[in-house]
Amino acid sequence: ARAEALAEAHRPAMTRDGTHIEVFANLGSAAEAGRAVAGGAEGCGLLRTEFLFLDRADAPGEAEQARIYGEIAAALADRPLIVRTFDIGGDKPAPYLPMATEDNPALGLRGVRLNLARQDLLDTQLRAILAGVPAPQRRIMVPMVIEPAELAAVRDRLRAAERTLGIDRPTPLGVMVETPAAALGADAIAREADFLSIGSNDLTQYALACDRGNPATAARVDALHPAVLRLIALAAEGAARHGRWIGVCGGIASDPLATPLLIGLGVTELSVAIDQIAPVKARLRMLDLPACRDLARTALCLPDARAVRALAQEFAR
Ligand code: PEP
Ligand code: MG
Repeated sequence: ARAEALAEAHRPAMTRDGTHIEVFANLGSAAEAGRAVAGGAEGCGLLRTEFLFLDRADAPGEAEQARIYGEIAAALADRPLIVRTFDIGGDKPAPYLPMATEDNPALGLRGVRLNLARQDLLDTQLRAILAGVPAPQRRIMVPMVIEPAELAAVRDRLRAAERTLGIDRPTPLGVMVETPAAALGADAIAREADFLSIGSNDLTQYALACDRGNPATAARVDALHPAVLRLIALAAEGAARHGRWIGVCGGIASDPLATPLLIGLGVTELSVAIDQIAPVKARLRMLDLPACRDLARTALCLPDARAVRALAQEFAR
């Protein structure tokens, strides 16, 4: 029975009506890549590269980063690897990043804003990704985007790095939808992006004005709030209009209760915690996409996250 469960975890997950939903893993270190593959991941949908940048005196160099990205790519054995550019900021200080103290670090110089303010660090990271990750596996994703110009600016740096290294195959460049602005403006962003991935943790924090790190508000940071689901629906519509794929890499992707809602809203990739790969795949195999679309439509009209959870629980029974 164990061997069978393992084999199931390694097969792609199809819904009952035959739609393949990709199940990827979120990674935050090189050591996890092998575990993700052993757990049945079809790729890495979010490599959080912050582990390379924090708790050290100097920024990581190109060779060091390239070696680590290469190790992760090798452990993934030909599966796609989506590397997120560094998402450090005022709340995670680094000695080599002199930054003013910010009253609101979550609203401050972080994500793509810091990427573009420190093009030296960005260029080094882009070259390291190009050098370390084989082209067929390689994808890059940008955090905290609010408008297409930010993506265009990163794309310029990426194309320049590709020219420097003599690479002529352009690397797919995607956007994290984790600000309300990115979800509301998904149509214009998707025109410029090769793919989109919803960062539901930050998207929920910003949509609900609830600090995800504050114990007094963290419990209310529930991505099943209908306001967040509406933003996800808009993002999925924008992606579809331009023929881009859209996934979810925030925490809600790991919750099998949310699976029918997310695919019902039009998401076709879920990047999850390693130990949730098998449960999410098992859930997907029980689902019928048209029924999920009806469920999602109903959820969008409910008043709060509690009502959506109750609906999802009822659906699961
Ligand atoms: C998110 O915000 O949902 C996300 C995936 O990014 P992080 O949790 O690293 O901010
Ligand atoms: Mg985020």
